[in-house]
Amino acid sequence: MKTNVDVVVIGCGPAGIQAGIHSSRKKAETVIIGKMRNSSLYGAHVENYFGIKGKTDGSLLLRTGLEQAASFGCTHIDLNVIGASADEDGFRIKAESGEEIVCRSVVIATGTSRMKLNIPGEKEFHGKGVSYCAECDCNFFKGLKVAIVGDESEAAVSAELMTEYASTVYWVSNGISASSNLVDKARDAGVKIIEGIPKAIEGDTDVKRLILGDDRSIEVDGVFIELGGRSSAYLAMDLGLMPETDDSIKVDSNCETSVTGLFACGDITGRPWQLAKAVGEGAVAGLSAAERARYAK
Ligand SMILES: Cc1cc2nc3c(=O)[nH]c(=O)nc-3n(C[C@H](O)[C@H](O)[C@H](O)COP(=O)(O)OP(=O)(O)OC[C@H]3O[C@@H](n4cnc5c(N)ncnc54)[C@H](O)[C@@H]3O)c2cc1C
Repeated sequence: MKTNVDVVVIGCGPAGIQAGIHSSRKKAETVIIGKMRNSSLYGAHVENYFGIKGKTDGSLLLRTGLEQAASFGCTHIDLNVIGASADEDGFRIKAESGEEIVCRSVVIATGTSRMKLNIPGEKEFHGKGVSYCAECDCNFFKGLKVAIVGDESEAAVSAELMTEYASTVYWVSNGISASSNLVDKARDAGVKIIEGIPKAIEGDTDVKRLILGDDRSIEVDGVFIELGGRSSAYLAMDLGLMPETDDSIKVDSNCETSVTGLFACGDITGRPWQLAKAVGEGAVAGLSAAERARYAK
């Protein structure tokens, strides 16, 4: 592993890979550290990204993007980052192998991981009716019955959105804590609220029903788990930056944070959690990080 480079990108999703492409094309020596298979896009099917017709496999986009980055000289390390620090030499990024890389600019592109219910059927039916993103997958449920699971604003907004696509929308909650204004909007749009705790998701090749704790069964074709997300924003704290209360990282129009030389892009900077935004910010962050590294030399 080379130990001194211009730019380190933490995260190997679309935001990080695009940052790597733009940074290395600017002739900055760039390393992406992260596991591609842990990207939110890896198991997703995309149909709302510019230039792509029909459903495209997210893992294919990621693999192609990483090959592109490599063709411009960007290196990839398939490890997690476990710590970071800053000193007079620049930023020090520590990989799980224990090795450290020193760099002049850092791009944090660690995304968010969607919170899980951890119930039987959730993993088995992921992509076969179980989704973590109504905004992404709404179109695949036209005319079908769906259940939205969650207590907070994410669930309320997703439930209302799904009424424009699905024939029936149930909102299953164990105690709604979304603002009353959002709950009213969902109700007015025709969402049927059911109190209960999801126990299992059942089906054959695709989802057929959601089972609740008291053994009630709701016949549905889709279950949207809308519990919000968690991020690796703690890495920013190691570098002197406090994330926002929702764990996102605030950036300016160059995707730079309030710490000079520290950039962020993609889902970690906040909603919408969408590929197009991740890639757009990745390009900005990559260019800005390369530029900043040049001035720091
Ligand atoms: C089921 C599903 C379907 C979706 N469908 C669509 C769609 O149709 N259209 C659309 O526009 N969007 C869709 N999305 C959203 C889209 O996938 C995300 O917006 C996008 O992947 C965000 O990119 P990102 O690079 O910011 O984060 P991610 O893709 O999540 O990548 C984050 C990367 O950071 C890495 N990482 C995290 N912590 C560390 C660490 N400590 N050290 C090193 N690396 C770390 C991860 O391993 C991963 O490589 C979908 C998402 C899901 C979950």
